[in-house]
Amino acid sequence: MNVIDAHVHLITRAMVDDAAQRFRTLYPFAHDAVEKRAERLFGKEFLGWLDGITLQQQAAEWLRAMDANGVERAVFFPISGRLEDMRDFVALAPDRFAGYAFLDDPAAADAPERLRRAVNDYRLVGLKLYPSLQLFNCCDERLFPLYAEARSLCIPITFHFGITHAPVADYRYTNPLDLQLVLNLFPDLNIIAAHFGAGFFREVCLLGFHNRNIHLDTSGTNNWRDYTPERLPLEEIFKRAVEIYSAERIVFGTDTVIRPGAGYRSAIKEEQIGIVRGLKISAGEQELILRGNAHRLFFGKR
Ligand SMILES: [Zn+2]
Repeated sequence: MNVIDAHVHLITRAMVDDAAQRFRTLYPFAHDAVEKRAERLFGKEFLGWLDGITLQQQAAEWLRAMDANGVERAVFFPISGRLEDMRDFVALAPDRFAGYAFLDDPAAADAPERLRRAVNDYRLVGLKLYPSLQLFNCCDERLFPLYAEARSLCIPITFHFGITHAPVADYRYTNPLDLQLVLNLFPDLNIIAAHFGAGFFREVCLLGFHNRNIHLDTSGTNNWRDYTPERLPLEEIFKRAVEIYSAERIVFGTDTVIRPGAGYRSAIKEEQIGIVRGLKISAGEQELILRGNAHRLFFGKR
């Protein structure tokens, strides 16, 4: 069966430079520490590879990987607000690729307008918000116009809460429970918490208590479990997520970044498909997790 991978990454050299610039501006007195941590994440080899590869080559590589892995479509996340790269990349295979928007300052007065342009002009299908990286609290009222705009554009917002590989992040903004008011005030806005909350699984479970507009994505290694007291097996995470959220609000993803020596994350895909197959839910519900929910969220009627 084909799957839709709802969480993978497109990284270009220009995006890396933008991200580096953002950190420099944010932390002018900790320049060396930021550079060192960024280098640990990206590494010279990856940057060299990015310098030598075109968007067309990245697209060809992705299509090969998707064909080999039975991935019908993939939804790409950028790492900076330079959305032209994302637009041009998606345009190379619009029936296989879809792209998310990222805004450099989601609390800015022009953020709703930028999002509208990203969706209407660039055909992007969602908004990624990263509170610990972008230094805002998700329940800050300055964000509400942006949430209202996403609601009227009928696009989902994916939040990265929890722990992160980002070179510098502020965990004061990383607790998904802060989203509770937003979920209540914007019941028609679809919100996705990436990586099962990345360490805040208990908190995202609690958010399931009375909110129907939050979804969980399964993406990545989910190695955040190694840093929790109980270290639940991934099978148990899926089981509890389905019990609380139902299969209709779980979305499969691998969090793949194609880079030298690391292709599509087939092992993660196979592991998660195996777990989904083992859940005591119907074949139709399994299909929702692996494909159907993403189809509804990203490619349904607007
Ligand atoms: Zn990711």
